[in-house]
Amino acid sequence: MISCGIVADQNPIKKEAHPGKVVPRKIALAIFNGTDTTMANAMAVALRSEWTPDVDIVRVGDEPAFAFYPPRKRWIADSLLVFLERNNGGRYLKMAGISSRDISTRKGEVENWGVMGLGFCPGGACVVSSFRAKPGTQGFLLRMRSLLFHELGHTFGLPHCPSMGCIMEDAKGKMTLDGEKSFCYACRKRLQDMGWLRIR
Ligand SMILES: [Zn+2]
Ligand SMILES: [Zn+2]
Repeated sequence: MISCGIVADQNPIKKEAHPGKVVPRKIALAIFNGTDTTMANAMAVALRSEWTPDVDIVRVGDEPAFAFYPPRKRWIADSLLVFLERNNGGRYLKMAGISSRDISTRKGEVENWGVMGLGFCPGGACVVSSFRAKPGTQGFLLRMRSLLFHELGHTFGLPHCPSMGCIMEDAKGKMTLDGEKSFCYACRKRLQDMGWLRIR
């Protein structure tokens, strides 16, 4: 499911298996209906200031019906990732979805676990949700930024990081996103060595 283009994604100068087709270097901020556009614009600015690929804001309509989980009125994040990858059509390096819905995934024994975001690790898509990020309260944009950078980090192959305070730290279901977070030295270096994060 996530094999196509993954190896190429790790290196900006590598080409896809199809001869002559260069892997695009743009990230799509894929906005589902209902997403706060002011927040989405702020995320585009945050991405451009720290990451090297350019960013397009792309509208992808409603969350697809096949992702809906009626018992909890949630949308299955894994299905949203599949939907986003299908909507890419080879145009974007990554599809980074933003939803306002309550999203969830399976976590161990728990069939339906509410999450703030999910990303293939590595892969072509991630999704973040504002539902649990307390929209309209202080620090909302910074929380969304941390969430987006975390999930995008996964798509570039970064696992969870044991360094306290690192953006790639495992949230373990808690809200540990407050404040302006950054990548620890090791995670930052990995992304910079691959050419995806600006050197500051
Ligand atoms: Zn994670
Ligand atoms: Zn780290």
